[in-house]
Amino acid sequence: MIDVLTRIKDQAQQDIAQALEFESLNQVRVGILGRKGEITQVLRGLKDLDGEQRIEVGRIANEIKGELEGLIEAKTQQLKAQELEMMLQSERIDITLPGRPVPTGSQHPISRVTDEIKTIFIGMGFTVAEGPEVEMDYYNFEALNVPRDHPARDMQDTFYITEDMLLRTHTSPVQVRTMENMAPRIPVKIIVPGRVYRKDDDATHSPMFHQVEGLLIDERITFANLKAMLMLLAREVFGADVKVRYRPSYFPFTEPSAEMDISCVNCGGEGCRVCKQTGWLEILGAGMVDPRVLEYGGYDPEKYTGLAFGMGIERIAMLKYKINDMRLLFDNDKRFLSQF
Ligand SMILES: [Zn+2]
Repeated sequence: MIDVLTRIKDQAQQDIAQALEFESLNQVRVGILGRKGEITQVLRGLKDLDGEQRIEVGRIANEIKGELEGLIEAKTQQLKAQELEMMLQSERIDITLPGRPVPTGSQHPISRVTDEIKTIFIGMGFTVAEGPEVEMDYYNFEALNVPRDHPARDMQDTFYITEDMLLRTHTSPVQVRTMENMAPRIPVKIIVPGRVYRKDDDATHSPMFHQVEGLLIDERITFANLKAMLMLLAREVFGADVKVRYRPSYFPFTEPSAEMDISCVNCGGEGCRVCKQTGWLEILGAGMVDPRVLEYGGYDPEKYTGLAFGMGIERIAMLKYKINDMRLLFDNDKRFLSQF
């Protein structure tokens, strides 16, 4: 019996030493120590032996069992260490490499310019007002002194939803809506940024574009107030050296009306391709609110005066950032957008 045990032990020691992976080591363990394993069989057979021999064989069998368990445990640790080593070898984590950058977006030039203009006017006490892009003909045209047969409608052809409802051609309907809500309280002091629509599509016109306009109604508002605010705007947006000039113009909803030019941001006024050799760039329209528009809005034109101005945000952004094609602003090309 003891010979059998010694043989089992020798064989097991050899098998354990030769096991190269968990799978084969486990097979060795089951073969010796499992429920039907060789040592287990011997221990079960003890009951057939008599006294002295039973004790002797039992002692040796348990000794060998303990010894083999220790060997298997040691081999298990060895295999684990080998596995870890292999994993480290194959993965090769280099903690000195720089991390992968997380891509962050940047603000669209239209949003940047809009925010900049908002900030300038909020600093002068204006509040931001907004209104619907699908607008009634009444607010878009009629209440702004442009009746149905008025030739000014031709300059602002748009997309009609029904005969009386359209995509707004300018942000001015918000002026009328605000006056209606506020009248007769003063001052009305709003800027209105937003999307507008017209039936144009080329390098300098888009069927959808952005405007921001301002309205100030109060007592004793004059053209001098308008000039002072627009001068500040020009300097804040285009730099302290910029010069401005006003040309008489016509808008149905202001009287008198003017357009404001700034000295060319490209050549400084010398004359170049951007300013078509004139040295000046047209950037906005403005004027004193027509008395009839004040009346439509519920304000007594004998008592109150108002000023209004409006500009295309794309135009400002293109001049400020020297963008030569408006369509770049809406193409969503990251090579373009990541420059801002
Ligand atoms: Zn120029």
